Amino acid sequence: MITFRKNAIERALNRSPKNSLHDAKIKISDLFGCNVFSKNAMKQYLSEEAYRSIMESVNKGTKIEYKLADQIATAMKTWALSRGATHYTHWFQPLTGATAEKHDAFITILDELLPVEKFEGSQLIQQEPDASSFPSGGIRATFEARGYSAWDPTSPAFIIGDTLCIPSIFISYTGDALDYKTPLIKALSALDKAAVEVCQYFDKNVSKVYATLGWEQEYFLVDEALYHARPDLMAAGRTLFGHEASKGQQLEDHYFGSINERVLEFMKDFEIEAWKLGIPVKTRHNEVAPNQFELAPIFEETNLANDHNQLVMDLMEKTARRHNLRILFHEKPFAGVNGSGKHNNWSLATDTGKNLLSPGKTPKTNLQFLSFFINVIKAVHDYADLLRASIASAGNDHRLGANEAPPAIMSIFIGSQLTSVLDEILKKVKKGKMSPDLKTELKLNIGKIPQIIFDNTDRNRTSPFAFTGSKFEFRAVGSSANCSASMIALNTIMAHQLTEFKKDVDALIDAGLDKDEAIFNILRNYILASKNILFEGNGYSEEWVREAEKRGLSNIKTTPQALKEYISEKTASVFTKMDVMTARELHARYLIKQEKYYKKIQIEARVLGDLAINHIIPTALKYQSLLLDNVSKVKELFGNEYIKIAATQINSIQEISAHIAAINKKVHNMIEARKKANVIEDEFKHALAYSEKVKPFLDDIRLHVDTLELMIDDELWPLPKYRELLYI
Ligand code: ADP
Ligand code: MG
Repeated sequence: MITFRKNAIERALNRSPKNSLHDAKIKISDLFGCNVFSKNAMKQYLSEEAYRSIMESVNKGTKIEYKLADQIATAMKTWALSRGATHYTHWFQPLTGATAEKHDAFITILDELLPVEKFEGSQLIQQEPDASSFPSGGIRATFEARGYSAWDPTSPAFIIGDTLCIPSIFISYTGDALDYKTPLIKALSALDKAAVEVCQYFDKNVSKVYATLGWEQEYFLVDEALYHARPDLMAAGRTLFGHEASKGQQLEDHYFGSINERVLEFMKDFEIEAWKLGIPVKTRHNEVAPNQFELAPIFEETNLANDHNQLVMDLMEKTARRHNLRILFHEKPFAGVNGSGKHNNWSLATDTGKNLLSPGKTPKTNLQFLSFFINVIKAVHDYADLLRASIASAGNDHRLGANEAPPAIMSIFIGSQLTSVLDEILKKVKKGKMSPDLKTELKLNIGKIPQIIFDNTDRNRTSPFAFTGSKFEFRAVGSSANCSASMIALNTIMAHQLTEFKKDVDALIDAGLDKDEAIFNILRNYILASKNILFEGNGYSEEWVREAEKRGLSNIKTTPQALKEYISEKTASVFTKMDVMTARELHARYLIKQEKYYKKIQIEARVLGDLAINHIIPTALKYQSLLLDNVSKVKELFGNEYIKIAATQINSIQEISAHIAAINKKVHNMIEARKKANVIEDEFKHALAYSEKVKPFLDDIRLHVDTLELMIDDELWPLPKYRELLYI
């Protein structure tokens, strides 16, 4: 064991950077998308008719005619074979949180025992993975285990290694969604429909609205040998023990620092793989904590952006291994330094090339901007608890409200300039008809918005939902999450809100107001109804927690509680109205997430118990024996004087005994608490028991172990320490 830690350190120290595949002579644009069945590839391999049919499906959501499927499949196969592929798979995102694939070779043996490569329309369109082991939240009993995956033509097929991957949705035979993609596509389509209708007030040319997503992915890297010497990292993805290193992030010298050579080689490698897959990764930098980094791409349409995030996470994992590194996507792998998040930058774009959350050049486009902007605020205000539920996970509980990430209180930061614009609307807009002078004045002031925003440099890093000039940034999303969960919620509530807006405005127009008056009136009502969610101050402060409580904002601290919003009537109503998910599907998701929560804590508790009893206590006993030995020798030499001379050692012996006894007892009690929790049938109560009765033991036991780490001879300590994990 002792040699295990030492060996690990030695191996980690002696690594030289593995040179990346990077060839300076290749331009990014030369390889970008070469492994994607892209528009270019499609044009080359498909008939005009088939190409048009796919494009229409992408742009208008129309169905691809069945008779074209064979042709498309053959073209895809020919393209894939030309790039060395031997297998194909439907690639989907079950509710495990990871992606799933089951490879089949293209090979078929014909009657004459002739082997040929075959891939037909039916195989492109649908696959039946034996799905009995994917989480279904009770939707699909195991005797009726079949679910099927179906091609999503809006996200292009791609090749990884020797396999053609076909992005797919995953549903049960009863038609219920068992994945993240199905409801995401539905939410995006609901949003499209609602937003286009609102756009008609301002611009008749808009016929499609896309939600855009630009994620920023944070992660940690640790050396593989050190990782293997930490059973907690291996099983739980985070360290359950470890005293803070003397130097953590207090000097803030890691943030944007020069990137270490070994890490840079890793980054270069996965970036090349990402570019080949058409993923527009752009920015890389050191993050705040030591060994923490960030990656950000250029934003894309949300469904594609999310596929790309899932793919990148997979690529990073694989590439890290090739560099003898391990990547940690956990939200809080190390205590005492920052955790990792995944900011979801989100906006709305039209097919006329306009960003609806970016002010334009004329008062008209700015009224459009304000309409969308204020509708976002209203939607987030009305469904704050649902957004909170959408980001809930065992890992993210450690991060939210830990004074590094936004608190669990949902609030919106819009900056002082836009705050005054909203104030002005509140003050000046009159109910009903408005004088021509007033209308002109309002429009003139609105015309000044772009200048205001370009001058507006204030940024509030403590807000979970911040407006940053031309987009909102949902910062509370966890680093390991599938962005879909939050994007499904956000786009659904926005679709609903825009539908309400249209109804409200039309009602006033019918009552005799002109369009602008009606819009101003409704916007004023919305600001009034939702302004208590706007907060410009420090989201990390204690005052905000108190202030938020006064304002009646929720502050839901744990996952089991947060998830309850998935099964509220309000949530079921908005999801069914927008035709995104049924109450049954929501309930299934709720059960799966509760179960995942307590299983994660259960794994942590098991690993921690094992480490405490089998690694830490034996080490403490060994060191205590050394001390006892020393004390006996002191006694031999100095007789009764030994009590004074060996006072420090004697004190340590007693302290060690106390810690050992405490650890032993608490591990035992933790096991008892688990046994009690495990027999609870109700998933919520089960999760709650883990959150309230089991989880507190983790920190409690940790305290004893971390104290022992400081007392015990470094030579004996079995687990790589923070100073090693974070600095090698
Ligand atoms: P930061 O917010 O860190 O200061 P930027 O403002 O440059 O940095 O943007 C960060 C992320 O926001 C990038 O990943 C980028 O792709 C994304 N982003 C920028 N504009 C949009 C948009 N209109 N829609 C969605 N994401 C966007
Ligand atoms: Mg950002």
